[in-house]
Amino acid sequence: MTRRISHWIGGKPWTGEPERTGEVFDPATGEVRARVDLAGAGQLAEAVEAAAAAFPGWRDTSLAGRTRVLFAFRELLVARRDELARVITDEHGKVLSDAAGEVQRAIENVEYACGAPQLLKGGFSENASRGVDVYSIAQPLGVVGVISPFNFPAMVPLWFVPNALACGNTVVLKPSEKDPSAANLIAELFAEAGLPDGVLNVLHGDAVAVDGLLRHPTVKAISFVGSTPVARHVYETGTAEGKRVQALGGAKNHMVVLPDADLDLAADAAVSAGFGSAGERCMAVSVVVAVDPVGDELVSKVTERMQALRVGDGRDPGSEMGPLVTAAHRERVASYLDAGVAEGAELVVDGRRLDVGGGGFWLGPTLFDHVRPGMSVHSDEIFGPVLSVVRVSSYDEALELVNANPYGNGTAIFTNDGGAARRFQNEIEVGMVGVNVPIPVPVGYYSFGGWKDSLFGDSHAYGPEGFHFFTRTKVVTSRWLDPSHGGVNLGFPRNM
Ligand code: NAD
Repeated sequence: MTRRISHWIGGKPWTGEPERTGEVFDPATGEVRARVDLAGAGQLAEAVEAAAAAFPGWRDTSLAGRTRVLFAFRELLVARRDELARVITDEHGKVLSDAAGEVQRAIENVEYACGAPQLLKGGFSENASRGVDVYSIAQPLGVVGVISPFNFPAMVPLWFVPNALACGNTVVLKPSEKDPSAANLIAELFAEAGLPDGVLNVLHGDAVAVDGLLRHPTVKAISFVGSTPVARHVYETGTAEGKRVQALGGAKNHMVVLPDADLDLAADAAVSAGFGSAGERCMAVSVVVAVDPVGDELVSKVTERMQALRVGDGRDPGSEMGPLVTAAHRERVASYLDAGVAEGAELVVDGRRLDVGGGGFWLGPTLFDHVRPGMSVHSDEIFGPVLSVVRVSSYDEALELVNANPYGNGTAIFTNDGGAARRFQNEIEVGMVGVNVPIPVPVGYYSFGGWKDSLFGDSHAYGPEGFHFFTRTKVVTSRWLDPSHGGVNLGFPRNM
């Protein structure tokens, strides 16, 4: 019997008959591990109704009561981090140490949300006018939808869910249908931590569930992470429906290496950030921009390191890189190898030569040199273990190349010149910048977000902007009458 993965609605697993189901694979063997229910209109309505019914009670739960649940959830996550990492690896394919890193970054966001009593303090101005006080209150929005991609099945949901809950909202989480189990474990741990039924619901599904959430009048806001075309669709549809939307999209992250850089450090960074999680990270480095004359030496150092990488089943502690998530994605990524060659790039390392055996979705680390703008390997987000090297003659050419790219998620510069790095951080049109740091994912008390086609909306994810996104502000102007009450006055209120 294939295991069934179903929705979590109103504090318990959904036990109805699904109209549609999807296959969930073990990417290392290619076998079907489970079948996931794909929501239709009925389950969508049930999940939203459960969240709406839970909202008044959760909204009025004290700050202490809400954060107590978050502290307890944090303890459970820490205690069961290995189990969650294993669930991620089984369905995503990434190696266990990488999955453990994902869980650790998720825990950071829970820890931030535990600061809600401090973070939700409003402002207070005594005597804004004589005898008049003005103060602001941050209130929850209501039912919010969180829609997440396959590549971080625990971390991305936990970029949003803890902050949304801390602010007093109730949530319908729609995880990726490719690796849905992590979301259910998260919901179970929240229930064990004391979260009331219906405050967090998990609705499994595909575009049908997403479009349903976007159009449901009870859903007040949507936090989305995924590819750029879907992010744009989510933003346009959700805002047209009058919702608050933040939609984080795809990426093409460039790492610029200046001639004065430490090339061993740069080569280590390019290989780690290019092939970690098989390149299936929105902050992966996919293009190395080598400023003359470092190209030859850098390509040789990167190639040397790639040849030592151990690719295998993510559950094997010896593996450094696992398989791709599905057979279809593996084929799509592999198709870029022929495309790159046809467009004139030099295929230095061909990942198709890798033979791991078994039926998994394998593709080895791949390196292209002499890539030029306009080639599909440069313009498209490949989202796999394919690294491209573009050679340029100057810092200015490197800057122009990165700024001309429609994506603006992450970037990095490798240099020992503080002045050049400072110029780069000022001039680059990208939301997250690393200086000798290849994957500059902000810590939980900053916010995460790209520019241009990498983010639609004006709030970045988690951190202070997350709290801003999940609350709306009310400003109260109050006067308690005293004997100086001046009677009727039809003039516009002036502050005296
Ligand atoms: P995806 O866009 O295919 O799916 C994301 C979510 O949208 C999933 O829940 C999926 O079920 C749903 N979906 C898919 N197609 C849809 C459609 N046509 N209409 C409505 N909903 C739809 O993305 P993915 O393949 O799961 O994830 C990889 C992508 O996510 C990459 O592009 C990556 O760069 C991006 N990503 C971005 C960030 C970021 O912070 N900017 C972080 C992680 C991943």
